[in-house]
Amino acid sequence: MTNQKIYKKIKKSGLGGALILSLFFTIIMAALIIFSILTIGAYIVDTKLSSEYEKISYLAHLYEEGQSGKYGDVFGLINEDGHDYVVRDKSGKVLYSQGENTCDEHGEEVKLSMKYANVRVYKDTELGFIYPENGDTQIAYGEIWKWFNSDESRKQTNLDALEDDDSEMQMTSHIYDPDDEDNLDYSVTIDNLDEKYLNIPVWLGVEVNDGSEEFIGRALVSVDVNELGFMIILVLVLVIVFMFLNFAFIISAIIGLVRQRRLVKFFFADTTTNGHNRMWYQIKGNELIKSRYGRKNNLAIINLVFVNYRNYCVCHSLAEGEKALKEVYSQIKSRINKKDMCAHVSDSNFALVVKYGTVEEIRERLESMISALEVVDPEHKFSFQAGVSLLEAADGSRESIRERKNAEIDNEYNNACSARSRISDTDESGIVFFDDKLVEEQKWIDAVQEKQALAVANEEFLVYYQPKYDPRTDKLCGAEALIRWESPDYGFITPYKFIPIFEKNGFITEIDHYMITHVARDQKKWLDEGYVCVPVSVNVSRAHFIENDLAEQIRDMVDAEGCPHEYIEIELTESAFFDDKKAMINTINKLKSYGFTVSMDDCGAGYSSLNSLKDMPLDVLKLDADFFRGDSENGRGEIVVSEAIKLAKSLNMKTVAEGVESQEQVEFLAREGCDMIQGYYYAKPMPISEYEERMK
Ligand code: C2E
Ligand code: CA
Ligand code: CA
Repeated sequence: MTNQKIYKKIKKSGLGGALILSLFFTIIMAALIIFSILTIGAYIVDTKLSSEYEKISYLAHLYEEGQSGKYGDVFGLINEDGHDYVVRDKSGKVLYSQGENTCDEHGEEVKLSMKYANVRVYKDTELGFIYPENGDTQIAYGEIWKWFNSDESRKQTNLDALEDDDSEMQMTSHIYDPDDEDNLDYSVTIDNLDEKYLNIPVWLGVEVNDGSEEFIGRALVSVDVNELGFMIILVLVLVIVFMFLNFAFIISAIIGLVRQRRLVKFFFADTTTNGHNRMWYQIKGNELIKSRYGRKNNLAIINLVFVNYRNYCVCHSLAEGEKALKEVYSQIKSRINKKDMCAHVSDSNFALVVKYGTVEEIRERLESMISALEVVDPEHKFSFQAGVSLLEAADGSRESIRERKNAEIDNEYNNACSARSRISDTDESGIVFFDDKLVEEQKWIDAVQEKQALAVANEEFLVYYQPKYDPRTDKLCGAEALIRWESPDYGFITPYKFIPIFEKNGFITEIDHYMITHVARDQKKWLDEGYVCVPVSVNVSRAHFIENDLAEQIRDMVDAEGCPHEYIEIELTESAFFDDKKAMINTINKLKSYGFTVSMDDCGAGYSSLNSLKDMPLDVLKLDADFFRGDSENGRGEIVVSEAIKLAKSLNMKTVAEGVESQEQVEFLAREGCDMIQGYYYAKPMPISEYEERMK
């Protein structure tokens, strides 16, 4: 599952980070912009409109006082101030007005900064003239932004005027009677562009006479264009910076995505076939079998092995071999559907997930695929073996859906491999389906491995003896020690059921020690009890022969039991000879020098070759039981056996014929000069007590 984790990491690292950063940045920048707008707004309200309000509310106060008659006619006073104003009652009826009443009917209540009350702001319906007031800035609120963007604003600003003549200019406003000499000259000099003002006339309403009337005075709010411009530019800069950074993040996210895609492709690529690799198969295969599609369909998980790949590479070249693999891969691809999967998972192994209908159908498809693959190279006939694990579609029940969701491609593929391994000792093409029998086998292997150590400690392994007889005299002349397992859990078990497991897992060396020790112990006991003892052969497995001090180990074990060496014979199989010829010859010589007899087991079976006889200084040749099974044509079997016995004799070796079951065979072997016979004709392997009877 580590691959899955790596894959998840790669997927995460690409886009997510950049997107989160981009989102984070957007939020920060949006907050900043809102904050700056609010700040500008607050600034305008606080500093500009408030001062205007103060003025208007002073006039309103004068109006109230004037009405109360306290100070006589104060209207003149108000009028003297030069402001336009209008007084309305609740119903909107105009009670008084001064100057031109251009106050818009609809007002809006505006909250001024904390120290002032709310004030109603009305628009001026006829925006008219420029009125900078002694350089002080005044500003309107409410429609300011809308207005700023309108054509009117241009009319209202002195920009146009300045554009006409940007040199020094003078403007005069006539707010009230210009003929009045006492009147201040409100004319103002605009020196240069720095003193541009944006003026917005507004009407500010203040409630008077306990709210029964409203005094609405005209105010002129003017904003320093530079000041406002600076703020607007600041906001614009922020927006641009934000957009730029966000753009950069998005670009980097896209680059990240592209990189991630590339990385994933790299992780999933098989460079030999230009297809997919094991990692891809594991990750995508898992996704597939758990997916909705996967659950709805029968899926076959297949391990397809190109059996002769290694040999082909040796005979040709690695490059040629890889070319063949590539061709095999593309052939497989062309024979599966789009949603099916195929990956080149290791040298000669291909892994597939294929949707199927029935078992017969998938078998036929695989057979035809293998037939096609066998002739991928017209000059060679290849062979392919397939192991298949079948995942049936979920039947819709919760149980079956959950089962499918829990299925793991690794387990299924392993089952397929395990099915294939049943034919891995042949070179022929074939298909094996993973089934309950295989599961049982695997369970048995697990059980044996779990119990093995305890079985040795509890002496559950028994030594059976199979006597060897001289066919000319019918006299007992030797025996072979053969193991049996008397298990408290599984009963009496023959060696075929557990020796291959021990050979695979290495526990066989323990078994060999166990047997040598027990045989030496038995022999010693019998000698002490006065039996006429014969040599007993013990099997020493091939795995054991890689140990340099094997001869010494055997000698020490036998010595520990006090058994003379001539009563022990060591049987080894020829296959060990191929592993390390020199070491084996060395061990044989040492064993012989210690006084043990050494024999070659299963001669003539499997891959044995006459050639090895020339190098191995052995004492005994055991002819394999295969020679005596069934009838040979035209007596050819007899000829081979007869010649083998002659050959052994001329090499100074004794012969033992194994698996002899009939009298004719015994007579024949006696005639040919075979020294010993070990077979059911004389005796089956037997427990100690029976063997003791035979010795008597
Ligand atoms: P093997 O060493 O070739 O042992 C001979 C096998 O042939 C024995 O099977 C024996 O019972 C059987 N046999 C003998 N005569 C006849 C006959 O006339 N007809 C038939 N049909 N069979 C006959 P067993 O005892 O079941 O042992 C099977 C194999 O297990 C042995 O083959 C040997 O390879 C292995 N094995 C048994 N005991 C040991 C052991 O203690 N250590 C090791 N390393 N392997 C052992
Ligand atoms: Ca044997
Ligand atoms: Ca044998």
